[in-house]
Amino acid sequence: MTQKTKYATTEREQAFLDTVESPKYQRENVNGLFPFFENKVPEEMQGFYTSGEIDALRILKDTDRDVEKRMPVKLTKHYFEIAKTSKSIQHIVKATPDETNDLDGSEDPGFQMDYSPVEGLLHKYEMGLMYVVSTCSAHCRFCYREELIGRKEIERADGTVAKKGLAKIPEIVAYIHSHNKQVSANGGKHPETGREKLREILLSGGDPMVLANSKIAAWLAALAEAGIESIRIGTKEMAFFPQRFDESFLTMLDRFHETYPEVGLRFLVHFNHPDEFLAKDSAGKYIEDSSGIFKWNPASDKAMKGLVSRGWISVENQSPIIKNVNDDSDALRIMQRALKRVGAENHYFFCGRDIVAHRAFNVPIETAWNILNESQKGLSGVEAHAKLSITHYLGKTEVSAVTNEPIPGLAGSENGVVILKLLRNAADAPLRGKVCIVGRNPDAIWFTDYEDRILFDEAGLFDYKRVKK
Ligand code: SF4
Repeated sequence: MTQKTKYATTEREQAFLDTVESPKYQRENVNGLFPFFENKVPEEMQGFYTSGEIDALRILKDTDRDVEKRMPVKLTKHYFEIAKTSKSIQHIVKATPDETNDLDGSEDPGFQMDYSPVEGLLHKYEMGLMYVVSTCSAHCRFCYREELIGRKEIERADGTVAKKGLAKIPEIVAYIHSHNKQVSANGGKHPETGREKLREILLSGGDPMVLANSKIAAWLAALAEAGIESIRIGTKEMAFFPQRFDESFLTMLDRFHETYPEVGLRFLVHFNHPDEFLAKDSAGKYIEDSSGIFKWNPASDKAMKGLVSRGWISVENQSPIIKNVNDDSDALRIMQRALKRVGAENHYFFCGRDIVAHRAFNVPIETAWNILNESQKGLSGVEAHAKLSITHYLGKTEVSAVTNEPIPGLAGSENGVVILKLLRNAADAPLRGKVCIVGRNPDAIWFTDYEDRILFDEAGLFDYKRVKK
């Protein structure tokens, strides 16, 4: 019998936790396609799928192309109201048979489980990422955690096959203490992995904001007590159900900050399109105030202000560029400008990962670069901070430039080149800043599409060997 790791709260921690209130929220979710198949959704939602769409999805049920076996369907009432008048938003949450035309892709994109020393924790960089929950308020069809949300079985490096588990406080805290003790005893680097102190943790999943305040507070306090310097919360709740950022939640954050003022708190929000937060008139146009500034919808406005008005919290947006959702430079320009104006940073835009069925969602890499580059024309320097990143198995990699002209003297560059730069790398990031240059392939949606045109690869992007346990 395995012995359970014990965890005891400190007096300070318990005093904070005792102040937390956890109200219940009415997201009015629709879970799965069944309510649509059986006409059991509220009257106003009937018609979200046409009868033709319903028939096409029903035929696929329980076959290999069952869309819900790939990624469960879920929707909040708030998001439905936005989707009603936005094709882009519909593409985020509406299932279509097309998404199972080609089920090629990785069940564990980036071989993340190679970096999981404890169930529910990925420890690749100086930062750790935790799966604290396996669902969100609504589900994006393009989700790159579909294996977690769909509760699929994943093969790990040691050959075992199991669903991805969730992080638990006792095991995670024990791991942080053990890792950081070894790092400290070894002059700042772990003796085996070369990693530095584990000083930043991202609460992820799924979406931590579907958890009760008490559960989020328990994670925050336990990590703070374990010596974590900065905690991130990765969430799309500000789009799906912004009402979740209510007084009880903000008060919990204030109490946390009063108790642990040295710990940084960062919200990594996930807006894909300005329709998710800007107010529109009945003609579908963004509403301007008297200065010509686009107004936010009241719930998103309140949620965002609740966070950014607390100067000790940082808010950063990151979003993939997805076919039919936001492969639109005008929409991205509006979004970057609107977010920066209210105090949220534009962090990363991503090329889609090699998830199962990625061809249904991914925009070609060079197209994504061009869209982002176009969107940043006319933005000020601070509005245009975001980079385009593609997550290589080695780490996040910037798509830095795409040229139309050949590089003189460089064979294979006749149609122009793509310059990739490694931004992050496991352990002590020995490859950060290293570059890879490939000849252009306008249809490329993943690294494999460049394998026949590598011109220069000091980053080793095309020489990757999976981590051995
Ligand atoms: S919010 Fe994130 S984790 Fe949740 S379904 Fe969308 S992409 Fe996946």
